[in-house]
Amino acid sequence: MNIPFRDLRVTDPAEKAALLKAVEGVLDHGRMINGPELDQLEAAMAEYSGRRFAVGVASGTMALLLGLKGLGIGPGDEVITTSLSWIATANAVALTGATAVFADIKDDLTIDPASVKRLITSRTKAVIPVNYTARMCDMPALEELCAKHKLLLVEDAAQSFGSRLNGHAAGHFGQLSCFSMNAMKVFASCGEAGMLLTDDEALRDKLVALRYNGTVNRETCLEPSLNGRMETMQAAILLARLALVPGIMDARRQRARWYEELLTDVVDLPLETPGHFHSYYTYTIQADRRDELKTHLEARGVETQIQHVILMPDQPPYRGCRAETDNARRVQARILCIPANEKTTRAQVEYVAAAIRSFYGV
Ligand SMILES: *Cc1c(COP(=O)(O)O)cnc(C)c1O
Repeated sequence: MNIPFRDLRVTDPAEKAALLKAVEGVLDHGRMINGPELDQLEAAMAEYSGRRFAVGVASGTMALLLGLKGLGIGPGDEVITTSLSWIATANAVALTGATAVFADIKDDLTIDPASVKRLITSRTKAVIPVNYTARMCDMPALEELCAKHKLLLVEDAAQSFGSRLNGHAAGHFGQLSCFSMNAMKVFASCGEAGMLLTDDEALRDKLVALRYNGTVNRETCLEPSLNGRMETMQAAILLARLALVPGIMDARRQRARWYEELLTDVVDLPLETPGHFHSYYTYTIQADRRDELKTHLEARGVETQIQHVILMPDQPPYRGCRAETDNARRVQARILCIPANEKTTRAQVEYVAAAIRSFYGV
């Protein structure tokens, strides 16, 4: 059997027809950038996350960068984020001119508020928790810490569309939340796209200027920025796909329940604890002898991934930054993402589970 980690082809005829219709609508009206579908997508995502405002941008990385600029973060500031994330999180901090500081993680792979607390200095301006794998961070603890120390809280929700914590959707927390809708995410465009969410109207207006070279009315430039606008075609595709997200999440959560049925006694699984609703961007297990297990699975046709192989503070530009990484290092040597997307079948899940059991001889 050959089991792909993910398969981005659009194979469902109904989905394909809906996406083609969405693209056709854009070809017909011709507003290729900031078209009406973007307005609709912004309204829909704001409502979904319980926010007043949404600003669509070209990517999740752009959302983080423009968001931090919009909040006034820059040279001299320190921003505390997690050690384990896609490097875009740290790069956005660095590109504002601020200094990234890396906190340790808990066993659930999200930022450890106790580590954040130890890393706060008089220069700390913001904290960026990442809902890693779509597992929600301990937002109540982080909100309390940020309020106490007067820090901005920016939610990197890039991986977590659809997840919830204590009834609140990802995208609801902090002064600002950032989503990625690149082709790999659970809520995915057919290319690159990102979204910023906030309740602050003045910040929304600033972000709208920042996404188009810092201009208002396409004329006066208030401050230097980039072109970070979203293509209307991607917005139209996302709008069509939004209706499919509940089904995609149900399917992913079903695969999680299957692995729980088959593997609970063998490896550490990403369980939903009280208050958490997990949309499973990746299904990341923690396993002894991880590298050997990966090789064993590959030899049996099971494609797996290690996300992410290098901790952010170990990446060349960030070596020497202040960091707490003890638990991140321990856990990082054990993580493995196994196939669990909406196209993975019950038979494939049984095959993967049997292959993992055979590796440990149980
Ligand atoms: C995907 C991702 C991003 C960046 O999003 P892009 O749309 O790929 O630019 C940022 N942070 C995290 C945690 C991500 O997973």
